[in-house]
Amino acid sequence: MTVSDPRPEFVPFAPPDIGEAEIEAAVEAMRSGWLTTGPRAASFEREFAAVLGTDLRDEPDPTVLDSAAEGPGGRVHAVALNSATAGLHLALEAVGVGPGDEVIVPTWTFTATAEVVRYLGARPVIVDVDRVTLNLDLDAARAAVTSATRAVIPVHFAGLPVDRGALAAFAREAGVAVVEDAAHAFPAMSSGQPVGVGESEAVVFSFYATKTMTTGEGGMAVTAHEDLAARMRTMRLHGISKDVFARYAGGYDAGGPRVPRWAYEVIAPGFKYNLTDPAAAMGRVQLRRAVAMRRSREAIAARYDEAFSDLPLDLPPRGGPGDVHARHLYVVRLRDDAPMGRDAFVDALTELGIGTSLHFIPLHRHPYWADGFARGPYPVADDAFGRVVSLPIPSGLRPDHLDRVVDAVRQVLS
Ligand SMILES: *Cc1c(COP(=O)(O)O)cnc(C)c1O
Repeated sequence: MTVSDPRPEFVPFAPPDIGEAEIEAAVEAMRSGWLTTGPRAASFEREFAAVLGTDLRDEPDPTVLDSAAEGPGGRVHAVALNSATAGLHLALEAVGVGPGDEVIVPTWTFTATAEVVRYLGARPVIVDVDRVTLNLDLDAARAAVTSATRAVIPVHFAGLPVDRGALAAFAREAGVAVVEDAAHAFPAMSSGQPVGVGESEAVVFSFYATKTMTTGEGGMAVTAHEDLAARMRTMRLHGISKDVFARYAGGYDAGGPRVPRWAYEVIAPGFKYNLTDPAAAMGRVQLRRAVAMRRSREAIAARYDEAFSDLPLDLPPRGGPGDVHARHLYVVRLRDDAPMGRDAFVDALTELGIGTSLHFIPLHRHPYWADGFARGPYPVADDAFGRVVSLPIPSGLRPDHLDRVVDAVRQVLS
């Protein structure tokens, strides 16, 4: 039964951009019998690493991807996981964060960034963010460093890369490890280099359903350090020194003593963080489309920038020279001269059938983090929290839906 509804169709905030090729790839993986981690996950890792060796302004050269699928991959090591949260946890574990340590995190993030610090019995030190970018405020981070500080987790908020040079200088001076939360930042570049390569110990990407590319649930931890990659590979699968794929390959290890392939050793109480092959198959297709999908988001952002330039809104900052913004989120901030507050603005857009979201409720405003972790004050985050709204920016947003968002925002604020 259909009931006619006079209201226009709802414009969803973040529908996935999945095509037939992704569906076919996942089905092919299922038909092959590899339901868990197998050859597709291994190829996905090598391809992801290889793409990080290219200029992410341009679409990847198919030959780079195809040769990486079989060959050695890129300069960095990519470790495929079932979430970015898993990647942040494994990266901190690999750099040696443990009880008694402190890890600096921005308050302007999702709870996953800080919760992984607690998994390891360490203490997140929650600091304020930059007024313009809402990325970690390095002066606040510098002021938070103590003799217990072991690491910092900067977040590339909305896909706008953190200042690579300033971050590396801070880390060297403070003597701390850097694990980048790049859940919003693929494909992105900072000072001419892809986010994912550089001086940091590890960089972690998310392939959650709403992110810039998706495997449903998934993530990738990237590192230039062989030892950290090896530790993360071991800990992602029960602390076993060889992964299942290698064991089932049969035969004997090349060279050295005759060790049967079924032999494995548990060297630590590891975790269960591996990515499945059907998910990896989806990811391999999404990886090939990632720059094209970003271009689609760039076009939406350009349209919003132009259409909203005369409204009482602070529009999202652009990257500096040499930066490529991943355009994961389009976050506007209502100015004091807006005719209404943020909550009323969200209600009015909902009434007009426009999906919105809010990034983020700062960590220090959640009961768990407020009670015992947040020290504050957080003037920048508190001010931004009262003003922010995230507008839809999915690749593949229908042109009529884009028009509806533009019209609705203008109508409500004029
Ligand atoms: C989505 C997100 C995560 C977690 O990613 P998962 O893949 O869902 O674990 C971490 N940090 C930030 C900033 C995020 O937005």
